[in-house]
Amino acid sequence: MTRKLEIVATPTPLVKAERLSSELGIGLYIKRDDLAGPTFGGNKSRQLEYYFGAALAEGADTILITGAVQSNFVRLAAAVARSQGMQAIVQLEDRVPGKSTAYRSSGNVLLARLIGAEIITYAHGEDEEGADAALHAKADELRARGRTPYVIHLSEGHPPLGALGYVDAATEILGQSDDFDFYVVASGSGSTHAGLLAGLRGAGSKAKVLGSCVRRDAKAQAPRIRRVTDRLVQLFPKAEAVTDDDIVVWDGALAPGYGRLGPAGRAAMGRMAAAEGLHLDPVYTAKSFAAVLAHVDSGDIPKGSRVCFVHTGGLAALFAYHEDLTV
Ligand SMILES: *Cc1c(COP(=O)(O)O)cnc(C)c1O
Repeated sequence: MTRKLEIVATPTPLVKAERLSSELGIGLYIKRDDLAGPTFGGNKSRQLEYYFGAALAEGADTILITGAVQSNFVRLAAAVARSQGMQAIVQLEDRVPGKSTAYRSSGNVLLARLIGAEIITYAHGEDEEGADAALHAKADELRARGRTPYVIHLSEGHPPLGALGYVDAATEILGQSDDFDFYVVASGSGSTHAGLLAGLRGAGSKAKVLGSCVRRDAKAQAPRIRRVTDRLVQLFPKAEAVTDDDIVVWDGALAPGYGRLGPAGRAAMGRMAAAEGLHLDPVYTAKSFAAVLAHVDSGDIPKGSRVCFVHTGGLAALFAYHEDLTV
């Protein structure tokens, strides 16, 4: 059994969105993983349960992690590190061109600073191996000074510990409700999408799991999800049940690109807020909820379907995007 540190008070709520359900003609439920874990929560809390399980088993005293400037993952990793008496070194990558002062200093960056993370930067945006290599160089320096660092990798080819957090979430949801016809989730690194899909298939569910691309287009994301589910088999053998046809990705709300909000995402944020009084974030959940709306519109999610929208969090980034959101 892979070791796990409990970070999330489970189960997170699974609530019916009453007004959106009647407006859309479906049974829409929201899995409130925006409430999972410390410092404004989010899906990375479930992933970190396994990374910190491994880090604690190795006796680590310092966590190193890399991400976009407004990464929710680094903010949460920094908070959990502090809660375990560890140092956190977070590396912020320049992935989103031409952003404002608020983007560079508010939202997740502000929270990571307040938590006391050491912040370093990486000048490239689309270089996962390079970003990890920079973390390893830093980890080597720390080792030379007698410290025990643990690196949370961004690049592929490492055991997908984070996906186990969403295998757990699948079990949790099935314990809260009858199965759904559709699950809709943001698909970025793919840990959440792959873990949820594998967890559901492992439990015998035939539900359709729709991943809304937030980072790369559908043509690149589908094989990535396949690679994550394949690697997951070592940690969770039932992931073997995932077939190629199970991997469904949609990139209709991805434009104009990672970390940038287009009209579909913006409309989705407005719709959720007006109907349910809930916020979505501009980078991930605006685009995943846009997938629900587009698929109901096209009939790919038929009327009467039971749909679980996984709210993966990201709300701290709202304050970094206020200029985009108020014009
Ligand atoms: C990282 C993130 C995602 C995407 O999750 P992956 O496991 O990287 O695919 C979705 N929503 C939020 C809020 C995130 O921070």
